[in-house]
Amino acid sequence: MAKYKRILLKLSGESLMGSKQFGIDEVRLGEYAKQIKEIHEEGVQIGIVIGGGNIFRGLSGAGKGFDRVKGDQMGMLATVINSLALSSALTVAGLKAKVLTAIRMEPIGEFYSKWKAIECMERGEVVIMSCGTGAPYFTTDTGSSLRGIEIEADVMLKGTRVDGVYTADPEKDPTATKFDEITYDEVLRRGLKVMDLTATCMCKENNLPIVVFDMDTPGNLQKVVCGDNIGTLVHN
Ligand code: UDP
Repeated sequence: MAKYKRILLKLSGESLMGSKQFGIDEVRLGEYAKQIKEIHEEGVQIGIVIGGGNIFRGLSGAGKGFDRVKGDQMGMLATVINSLALSSALTVAGLKAKVLTAIRMEPIGEFYSKWKAIECMERGEVVIMSCGTGAPYFTTDTGSSLRGIEIEADVMLKGTRVDGVYTADPEKDPTATKFDEITYDEVLRRGLKVMDLTATCMCKENNLPIVVFDMDTPGNLQKVVCGDNIGTLVHN
């Protein structure tokens, strides 16, 4: 039985690379589509926000002479590429998926609105909300916080390659220990990099809980949705 009626799933662009150094790994994409199908079968309404870090990040471009705003626009376009790729994979898996864009670019995707997104989800379609917030100087973590709050999701599920929030970066510090749950205040006090500050504060102020979990292990998305105690719950 699903614990949540409506979720916002955040996937990083980097995770779409799978074993590759750049771009999109079709195998990883297929695995994600399969996991998303599993929770769709549980009757969960699904909104998705994907990053673009596997293709372009505005900040990295800024260091190399790119104008920051143009770099961020390139990053937002990267999220559209990833969103289209995921929607194709979902269609192959037998789901209906719609890409909405926060910047007008019909016919690639319809222009985003909260009500369009909700209508699609209520019809049983998976909605992929691309371009992040649609504005530069933000990240897709902030984009997913914003969309999660707007579409009145019960929870944001942040799929990463790490299995939760740790006291320090577990890939660098072997003594790091994992939290089963933690409050937003504690995340901010300890300066933990769960998400960037803007995204963390938005979730805190609007009372949107997050579960950070390892999406790269097949079956984990369904476990989280069914309330299994994996990952880390961040809440007020
Ligand atoms: N971006 C932006 N505004 C947004 C969301 C994203 O300008 O609201 C740009 C920004 O340049 C960012 C890039 O898109 O670096 C890709 O997003 P992000 O870095 O969040 O991707 P992820 O790290 O999740 O792959």
